[in-house]
Amino acid sequence: MPDASKPTDLPREPSAELSPATLAVTAGREPRIPGGQVGSPLLLTSTFHAGGTDVYARESNPTWVAFEEALGSLEGGLATAFASGLAAADAALSLAPVGGVVVAPESAYGGVVATLRERAARGSLEVRFVDIVDTDAVISACEGADLLWLESPTNPLLAVADLPRLADAAREKGVLTVCDNTFATPLLQRPLELGIDLVVHSATKYLAGHSDVILGACVSADDSLTERLRAHRTLRGAIPGPMETWLALRGMRTLALRVERAGRSAAELAARLAGHPAVERVRYPGFGAMVSIEVRGGAEGADRVCAATRLWVHSTSLGAVESQLERRRRIPIEPEVVPENLIRLSVGIEDVEDLWRDLEQALAAA
Ligand SMILES: *Cc1c(COP(=O)(O)O)cnc(C)c1O
Repeated sequence: MPDASKPTDLPREPSAELSPATLAVTAGREPRIPGGQVGSPLLLTSTFHAGGTDVYARESNPTWVAFEEALGSLEGGLATAFASGLAAADAALSLAPVGGVVVAPESAYGGVVATLRERAARGSLEVRFVDIVDTDAVISACEGADLLWLESPTNPLLAVADLPRLADAAREKGVLTVCDNTFATPLLQRPLELGIDLVVHSATKYLAGHSDVILGACVSADDSLTERLRAHRTLRGAIPGPMETWLALRGMRTLALRVERAGRSAAELAARLAGHPAVERVRYPGFGAMVSIEVRGGAEGADRVCAATRLWVHSTSLGAVESQLERRRRIPIEPEVVPENLIRLSVGIEDVEDLWRDLEQALAAA
C-alpha cells in the first residue's frame, strides 16, 4: 500500500446511515488517497510475496474483499464470496451436523432441492420438506431440527415466507436459519435485520446482473459463522474467480437502478397479464421483478410461447438487464409441484411497452 500521502478522513467503510442505493455505489471502495485508483483492482495472482497478510489466493484475494464489503454492507453483515450460488448453498448446509435435520421448502431453487434430496438419499442429512407459506407447519417441523432453509420469494412459485416469525420461532428452538435472498436482493429485503442467521445469494442473478458471471455469496452478522464458512471455502476450494468477483462488483454498482426499473415494469406487466385471455394464473408477490404465469395449452402451449418471443430471451437464469423467460419444468430436476404450463418471467430493464408488445404477440401462440 502506498503510504506517502495520508487518506482523507472518509472511512473505507461508509457510514451505515447511508441508504442502500448509495451503499451499492460507495461500499467496498479503495481508500481516498491522492493519486490512488477510484475503480476496484482486479488482482490476478495465485500467490503473494511472503511476510504480508495475503499468503495464497485460495485463502484470500483483495478482489474478493471489495465485493464482500459491498455486499456485506448492503445486507448488514460480513459477506463471503463463493464460486457459485450453489457453492454458497453447499457451504451454508455444511453448518448442519452430519446426519442433522434440515427443514426446507418443497419448492425452491431446483439445484438446492436436488442437493437436499441427494444428501438425504446418502444419509448425510435428514430433510423435512414443507410448504413455507404455512408458517405453523414450518414451525412444527423445526422441532428437533438443526437448520431451517428458506427462500423468499421462492423460485419459481414466488411464495413468500413470514421471515420475522419463522426466525423468532427457530431461534427459540435453537435452529439455525438460512434465507436465500436471490430474488428480493438486499434492496427489497434484508433477512438479517428480520432475525435470520445467514443469507445466501446467487450473485449470478441480480447482483452481477448482466448474464456474464457465475458467482455466489453467504452473508452473516455472526463472526463465528463467517469463520466456519471461510474455512469451508478454503478447505473445499469453492473459491470465486477474481474476474467473476470483479464483474459482479461492477454490476452491483447499478443494482438500485436496475431493481427499481425492472420492478416497476414487472408490476405493470403482472397487472396486464392478469387480464390476458391466454393466461390462467399470474404469480407476482407485489415486489421484485420476477413474475410467473400459467398459460393456456399446457406444457406445449407454454413451449410455443417461449419459442415465439423475439425480444424476451428464451433461456434459463434471471436477474439480468435483458428480460428472460423459461418454462421451468423443461428442467428435469425441477420439483413436481411446479405446474407444467408455468413460465417464469424475469423482467429486465428494456422499455416496458416493447416488452408488453412482444409478450402479447408470443402469447397468441399459446
Ligand atoms: C440460480 C439460483 C441459485 C444457484 O445459483 P448459481 O449461481 O447458479 O449456482 C440459488 N438460488 C436461487 C434462488 C437461484 O435462482
